[in-house]
Amino acid sequence: MNEETYIGWSSVPRGMKVRLADFHTGLAKNLKRDKKGKKAIKQWAMESLNENREALSTAHDLFWTDKRYSLLIILQGMDTAGKDGAIKHVMSGLNPQGCRVESFGVPTRNELNYPFLWRFWRSLPRKGEIGIFNRSYYEDVLVPKIHPEILDTQRLPPGYGSKSFWDARFEDIISFEKQLVNNGVIILKFFLHISFEEQRNRLISRLKTESKQWKFSSSDLSERDHWKQYQEVYEEIFSRTSTDYAPWYIIPADYKWVARTMIADLIVLSIRQLDLRYPEITEIQKVEIEAALEKLQNTEKNPANK
Ligand code: AMP
Ligand code: MG
Repeated sequence: MNEETYIGWSSVPRGMKVRLADFHTGLAKNLKRDKKGKKAIKQWAMESLNENREALSTAHDLFWTDKRYSLLIILQGMDTAGKDGAIKHVMSGLNPQGCRVESFGVPTRNELNYPFLWRFWRSLPRKGEIGIFNRSYYEDVLVPKIHPEILDTQRLPPGYGSKSFWDARFEDIISFEKQLVNNGVIILKFFLHISFEEQRNRLISRLKTESKQWKFSSSDLSERDHWKQYQEVYEEIFSRTSTDYAPWYIIPADYKWVARTMIADLIVLSIRQLDLRYPEITEIQKVEIEAALEKLQNTEKNPANK
């Protein structure tokens, strides 16, 4: 990313003690662009997203043909952070055959029959695919930390909720990701970082706009009351689980278009870093191609019309 396009996503270096307040949610780092006003930012970001989408489509084609890797994108964020919109806008224009989106809500009774990572294992993108987890196993070290009573209903062995229980979950997540990377899964983890004020605006808009009302859940408001706790647990998550092979990116998300173009940009960058190629054509195939071309070129007329 050059300076012109840099507007401030940050990857979290391994072991960094993260304080979310140090990461902006808007465009504070780019005052020049901020001064141009919201309209100009949106215009720029939309153009940039269109370019990135085209680049992504080309990169995805090669990725799909190469079939040695899969790409797993993890999206986390507070309610209204823009996860659904990001998926819709970033993935539009991609070959649907090579895409897979999985959304994870409160674990079902059946899912609770298995270790917590089970439902993620079975939802992984196949080789050549780009898979998005709309929420993920990071919810398992987030929501029940803030509402420990959730664990009481999960039929867990004794000791759940203790420090060593949480340590074990973090260890499981880190080794799960390591195992995936060892096997050709590229992992990108995005946190859509919005401000408390922006969430208020979006919730109000959700309540007032008929086409958005269905999205409203009363838990959106009750969870908002725990905002500070959520931010703290997220800080712990980023501090503990950002690794060189599966880094967290904290994306300023108060401007939806900006967040979307940054995500598309980072996906393109990560695919381009791979040594991808179309399958090589063997000498025998070359001869076959020549022969096939010659045959087709010599049979212009439909024999049925003779
Ligand atoms: P939504 O993304 O709006 O459909 O909401 C899904 C809800 O499921 C959110 O409130 C999540 O926090 C919640 N959720 C997802 N995974 C878990 C989990 N492992 N434990 C508890 N709640 C979860
Ligand atoms: Mg919701």
